[in-house]
Amino acid sequence: MQLTVVGCAGSAPGPESAGSCYLIETDRYRLLLDLGAGASGPLQRYVSPSAVDAVILSHSHSDHSADLTQLWRLREVTQAPALPVIGPSDMPEVLRTNPDCWTTSVAEPGQLEVGPITARLARVKHGECWATRIGDALCYTADSEPCAALDELARSCRVLLAEASGFDADGPMTGHLTAGDAGRLAARSGARLLVLTHLRPWHNHRDLLMEAAEVAGCPTILAQQGLSMAL
Ligand SMILES: [Zn+2]
Repeated sequence: MQLTVVGCAGSAPGPESAGSCYLIETDRYRLLLDLGAGASGPLQRYVSPSAVDAVILSHSHSDHSADLTQLWRLREVTQAPALPVIGPSDMPEVLRTNPDCWTTSVAEPGQLEVGPITARLARVKHGECWATRIGDALCYTADSEPCAALDELARSCRVLLAEASGFDADGPMTGHLTAGDAGRLAARSGARLLVLTHLRPWHNHRDLLMEAAEVAGCPTILAQQGLSMAL
């Protein structure tokens, strides 16, 4: 299995990255975790839009879901089949108004078979938001403040893909992890690699990295568009 970061900007696209989007590939299946603002452009570097097999949407905020509209347009021209989308009960409008293009399933906690991929979903603390675990390989926090559900989902994962939406010095964040929170989550989970994502354009990302790495207890890197690794 392979992870490719298609977009890793938080809250709004940045000069070097689109909003959140992560491509999980096996030799015969392509799953997207989120499709945030601007991500349908760089997505085409890594996979044909018509070859995407499913999308798990963490939540309906535009930095995680806005480019579903563009993916629909790109798939429509190739007459690609309806795309399965698993997501929150408050699905984005485009999923409700174009029912021929999608098959939608409302996310539920627990195990989920997505093609050949075994995923596990947990509801985390950011409105209705779902974090995703892929086997023992990957845990993607989506957007959430620290919570027991996230701790449980991340336990013993190999790669922790965790948002870092601020600094500890700014105080506890509502609905988001600080870089320090991401590092402490990595330490509690026993992750072997921490990848910081949801990097807001107005933050100094090197400083986020330093804050998380100090407490993570494992190698820590910044996500960037095009980062790819075997899981
Ligand atoms: Zn977000």
